[in-house]
Formats: sequence, C-alpha cells, structure tokens
Amino acid sequence: MKTVIEDMRQGLQEEGIKRAGEVIKRGGLVAFPTETVYGLGANALDPEASEKIYSAKGRPSDNPLIVHIADWEKLNFIVRDVPEAARRLGEAFWPGPLTMIFRRKETVPLTTTGGLDTVAVRMPDHPVALGLIRAGGGYIAAPSANTSGRPSPTKASHVLEDMDGIIDMIIDGGDVGIGLESTIVDFTEEMPVILRPGYINQNMIQEVIGEVRMDQALIDEHSSVRPKAPGMKYRHYAPKAQLYIVEGAEEEVRQKIDALAEQEERRGRRAGVIVTEESVPFYHHGILKVIGSRGDELSISRHLFGILREFDEMDVQVIYSEAFHTPQMGQAIMNRLLKAAGHQIIKT
Ligand code: AMP
Ligand code: MG
Repeated sequence: MKTVIEDMRQGLQEEGIKRAGEVIKRGGLVAFPTETVYGLGANALDPEASEKIYSAKGRPSDNPLIVHIADWEKLNFIVRDVPEAARRLGEAFWPGPLTMIFRRKETVPLTTTGGLDTVAVRMPDHPVALGLIRAGGGYIAAPSANTSGRPSPTKASHVLEDMDGIIDMIIDGGDVGIGLESTIVDFTEEMPVILRPGYINQNMIQEVIGEVRMDQALIDEHSSVRPKAPGMKYRHYAPKAQLYIVEGAEEEVRQKIDALAEQEERRGRRAGVIVTEESVPFYHHGILKVIGSRGDELSISRHLFGILREFDEMDVQVIYSEAFHTPQMGQAIMNRLLKAAGHQIIKT
C-alpha cells in the first residue's frame, strides 16, 4: 500500500481534510496530529475498520481504543450515561488532553473497546484532528500511531518510521505540543479514578470535581494489582539500550551520571545521557541529549519519546537519565520514563 502524506504543517487544508475524511468513511486508516501524540484513526463504529488498527500496530486485541469526538452532541450516541462530574470535567477540559471512560452503548463495536462494556472518549484540542473527526463521520477510534511497544509518535516522521506502507494516509501537522498521551479518568465506578496520568493532573481534576483516586496499579507499580486500563499493563516504550533513571540531589545526580558514562567509555562502550539544559555544562562523558529545560515542563514532555527513538538509531549500549519530578506533569513524565526503564532506578 502507498501511504499518502498530507502536509498540514501550516494548518488545516480543506481539500486534504475532505480526502482524509473519505478514507475514514470507506474503512481506511489515517494517522493524524493531536495536542498529545499522533493518533492512528479509523471509523470507530465500523468493526472491520477498527480491527485494522490492531493489525497495523501489532496491538493485542484486548487493549481498547479511544473514541475521538469533535462535538458534545455526539456523546449520547455512544455512551449510556454521562455522570454529572464527568460533564463538569469535560466542560473544564474538553477539547483537551483528557479521556473519560463511560458505559458503552451497543453502537460501539466490541472490537473498538477491546471486548469491554465501557468506552473511552476524548475530544482533542487540535484543529486538524477536529476537522478530520467531523469529515470522517464524527467518531474516530485512535490509539497512538506507533507500532505496539515503541514510543508514541510526536512528529509525522515517527509515524512514517512505523507505518509506511501499512496505512492509507498520514496527516503531517508538525510537532505536537504536549508529547505524552492523555490523562484517562474512569467514571464507571463509585468514585472517579485516574487510570493514566497526563498533562491534566490529579489536583487539576480535584479542583473541578472533588475527590478522585489514582488507580492502585499506578501508586504501586511493582504490585500484582492489575491496571484498569489494559494498555498500562504492557511494557511500553522500551528503548533498545537499557535505560537507568538516576535519582537524588541535583548535583549528585550529575556527578553520578557523568561517572557512569565515563566508566562505560573506559570499557569501550558508549552511554547515552538524557539531561536538561541547565545541567549540560556539568557533563563531560557520554552522548548527551538535551530534553528541555526544568523551567518549562512542556519542553521535557514534548521531547521524551523523540529522544528515546533517537537513541534507538544510535550505537549506545546503555542510557542514563536524570529524573524529572516537575510540578504539574512530573507524575506523567516519570510514569512513562519508568516504564521505558523497566523501573531501573539508581539512587545517589
Ligand atoms: P493509546 O491511545 O495508545 O494511549 O491507548 C489507549 C489507552 O486507553 C490504553 O492504555 C487503553 O488500555 C486505555 N483504554 C481505552 N479504552 C478503555 C476502557 N474502556 N477502559 C479502560 N482503559 C481504556
Ligand atoms: Mg499507545
């Protein structure tokens, strides 16, 4: 299959969106930009179309997709009820990086929901994504547009790496703004539960709807508790080289990482090092990649997955990273980084 690329780096192109909408309506696959990561979209109401997403990604069939909508009126057609708290949360953060889980209506095929009787819904905050959803019939099922197990794509070239020749179309909307997948909140239990941390954190949610719990599997990632979001149980984002996160006081972390990288050099091996702008002058060994600045959390979240991909292209045997416990997104950033590291932490 030839994968067509539509260039919308300068913004939504009406003709291109129409073509993309046609691909969705006839059951094809279109990768598209959102504010979080690139999504791999298909008609959410067509079981054969959403089935194609699983095979393109090599995704386990029990890992449900998120249904993307562009307009509130569309919600009642796919969910059985919208609790008051969910409505308020949606009013506060939709369109935006928030996914909410509801009880499913039978209009949504079980292939889309990975066999579950619930459905995840999001309204993305990106003009191209919203345009595509409307042009494609109103309901687009889309997980991240990466091969299962690889870092989520934050630019069109990442999608091309994984999906060239496998999907019908990629809409290039340039680099994404957030770079980590949406926050998922489950509204199908007594109390709302955060299943996946993202840009919108627990405090921001509690300011709108009061108490909300974190899924137990997020709090204690070594426990045998089964995460409620099936996708969270898989070892995601694992780079080819073993990644270690070094934690401790800032100065000690820099010294420790630099010493570890030097040790690798002496053994004739190369170490990748993930650092912030502020700490560059303190490193003398290893291949440095600057992720962003501690003063600008989005610069860190936006570049994380791209850096993991870049190291996969390079000849490094091991990667060391500083920890990024930043105020708003620290939990989300560390959740992804810890998964990538298989929870390998070195404490100074
Ligand atoms: P992705 O868009 O690639 O980040 O994948 C979607 C994520 O949402 C996965 O972690 C899924 O397990 C999760 N998800 C989607 N639908 C549901 C649902 N009905 N219940 C729980 N988790 C869900
Ligand atoms: Mg994903």
